[in-house]
Amino acid sequence: MRLVLLGPPGAGKGTLASFLNKELGIPHVSTGDILREEMKNNTSLGQEVKQYVESGGLVPDEVVIKLIENKFSSDCAIDKGYMLDGFPRTEVQAKDLDALLNDLQKPVDQVIYLDASLPVVIKRLTGRRICRNCGAIFHMKNNPPKEEGICNECGGEVYQRPDDNEETIQTRMDVYLDNTKPVIEYYEDQGKLKKVDADRDSQEVQESLMKIFNGDR
Ligand code: AMP
Repeated sequence: MRLVLLGPPGAGKGTLASFLNKELGIPHVSTGDILREEMKNNTSLGQEVKQYVESGGLVPDEVVIKLIENKFSSDCAIDKGYMLDGFPRTEVQAKDLDALLNDLQKPVDQVIYLDASLPVVIKRLTGRRICRNCGAIFHMKNNPPKEEGICNECGGEVYQRPDDNEETIQTRMDVYLDNTKPVIEYYEDQGKLKKVDADRDSQEVQESLMKIFNGDR
């Protein structure tokens, strides 16, 4: 299955991707995760993108497009399908992605739009905590780690993303509305968009999605 997951920050794209990866084995490609890894390893790319990521702005299109091109040309996992999370975020990225995937003869099958409202995403993101090691996602109120600061799954360190603070969240939402909303229309025009109400809890979202995949909706 070849999927794009769209939606504002905090809509639950990462949580859904990890569910679909476990359930259906679809490889998960998150540009945010790739960029954070580069920053953690202090590579030249990591240094180049740090200011954008930490302020909640967008990394320039050509930089992220190159990342995806490299990923797809070096990774034979594309044969098992893919699930893009956090990419494309602009119309330029969406058009370049289509060109790349058409060349590879692996076009996007479906685009899942996780539609979540601003108050819900703010609550989710300010309480969100992530395992530095395995990427498991927690929430301080709804789903805290059993032992503070320690991941239930792997014992890794649980931390708060520096861009998950209220001011940066507002910037990310503004950036999303200006740049990523047009991407939703772009895929709607292609007849590939499936909208899911993502204000609900993750289990309900997962059930809706499995129904879509099974053709029940
Ligand atoms: P995410 O983990 O998807 O919330 O991404 C975290 C940050 O990485 C974003 O706020 C951007 O600064 C950067 N980023 C991730 N994906 C992209 C993209 N497709 N285009 C531009 N910037 C991106």
